[in-house]
Amino acid sequence: MPLLDEVEAMREEAEKAIAGADSPDALEAARVAYLGRSGKLKDFMSRIREVPADQKKAAGQRLNEIKSGLETLFAGAKDRIGAKAVCARPLPDPTLPGRIQPLGSVHPLTQALERFAGIFERLGFTVRQGPEIEDVFHNFDALNMPDDHPVRDQADTFALEDNAILRSQTSTVQIRVMEEHVGRHGGGAGMPPIRIVSPGRTYRPDAVDATHHYSFSQIEGLAVDRDVAMADLKGFLGMFARETFGSGVKTRFRPSFFPFTEPSAEMDVSCVFCGGKGCRVCKRQGWVELGGCGMVDPNVFDAVGIDRELFTGFAFGFGIERVAMFMLGVDDIRRFTENDLRFLRQF
Ligand SMILES: [Zn+2]
Repeated sequence: MPLLDEVEAMREEAEKAIAGADSPDALEAARVAYLGRSGKLKDFMSRIREVPADQKKAAGQRLNEIKSGLETLFAGAKDRIGAKAVCARPLPDPTLPGRIQPLGSVHPLTQALERFAGIFERLGFTVRQGPEIEDVFHNFDALNMPDDHPVRDQADTFALEDNAILRSQTSTVQIRVMEEHVGRHGGGAGMPPIRIVSPGRTYRPDAVDATHHYSFSQIEGLAVDRDVAMADLKGFLGMFARETFGSGVKTRFRPSFFPFTEPSAEMDVSCVFCGGKGCRVCKRQGWVELGGCGMVDPNVFDAVGIDRELFTGFAFGFGIERVAMFMLGVDDIRRFTENDLRFLRQF
């Protein structure tokens, strides 16, 4: 048989093999047999020298035509088989319930913090934050706690290196804001009014139990202006308490002592669970302690360079955990940091 007749026979055979392939494996076998590196087409190409010289060119052209024809068929078959493979897969059942991606939510402490900050913002306070790693000046000296003050004991703060400690209260931000005011206005008087609240984490090396933790959050407030009085402090904190716990809540101020305020007071609110009659939550007292407050000690103004003769101010600080525990009925401060989803999902 002349070479070209053999070639045409091979082409028919290859076309049948490709058309008949019904799986990716069968198709690949056909490709290797006819179009592969040592396949039949290649073999014919090397036999072109058997063709008489005047027919060589036409034979070569015919072989190339057959090659590209088979390649086209092969590509078509590949698509056909691929599509069949996809169809062969079981169809998704649209009636099945979807997979639910669990959504996170805001941590109860952050919720409480944002709520408190929001109330003070509506009362005209600006939210300010400061560094958690502080120096001794901002944490103690400027807050009227001299070198020999007992809270400066190594055992009462987390000391880092040299002058650096983890802040033990958010009052450090008050100092930074007052300094900023003084510097910004070129020193001297005329820089207040200041009205800020600073929420954030603080650290003390307390043994951890149901009501103590080495890391806790505070919200601290400061108002400085001419003629700010204790009555203003009581007015603002009373509004805060009613916004937070409801209009029926009563407040009470007990004399206390803090180095950075004079006079100082502890603020209590009437128990929202028993209405002041006494219950388990308020330990039969009818009152729950919210935090400390007082009029800014003039020594603090001296430390930051505010004229103590011209300005007065009040300051307050609440433990967020304590208030949140009271509001949410949480019995153990450790719940906030355990990352137990059974607890966190309730809020
Ligand atoms: Zn009570």
